[in-house]
Amino acid sequence: LLYKQHCITNLSIGILFTACLSMIDCTRNIIPWVFASSYVLSTFLLSPDLDLHHSSPTQNWGFLKMIWWPYSKLFKHRGLSHAPLLGTGSRLLYLCTLACLCALIYDLGKSVHEISWSSAQMLGTTRMEEFFSLFKRHENQCISFLAGTAASDLSHLFLDAVSSFLKRL
Ligand SMILES: [Zn+2]
Repeated sequence: LLYKQHCITNLSIGILFTACLSMIDCTRNIIPWVFASSYVLSTFLLSPDLDLHHSSPTQNWGFLKMIWWPYSKLFKHRGLSHAPLLGTGSRLLYLCTLACLCALIYDLGKSVHEISWSSAQMLGTTRMEEFFSLFKRHENQCISFLAGTAASDLSHLFLDAVSSFLKRL
């Protein structure tokens, strides 16, 4: 499948997912609009094809695409990055690690204390605590976001499998 077809089909499946979510009452933890937004965002920006440095999803990051270069070196194409849920986790973890590093560099930069391992550890722990309390305060939003990302990836994997199957015919 071409990238454009991939996106259109992925988004159509996303509309179906969201419609089902809005109708089923048992998924009270999931907020349909957060789910849908995260699904769309993931289709364009967090696709499993970030494991290819010259893929369209990587290009969608514009000048920031460089941040995915190490990811494309760490994960081979259609390897772990394309494993259900694990692949999604790998990208989210990768982004979180980068964000933590940036926050740590920022904190160390404005820290009045001398830069040392213990001050880095202390700042790191504070940031982690902030992160977890933010997650707790917005639990349903976070769960909906994660579900949207995972659903978009699952649909991508399904389409990859379909296109491989069609190629073999
Ligand atoms: Zn793929």
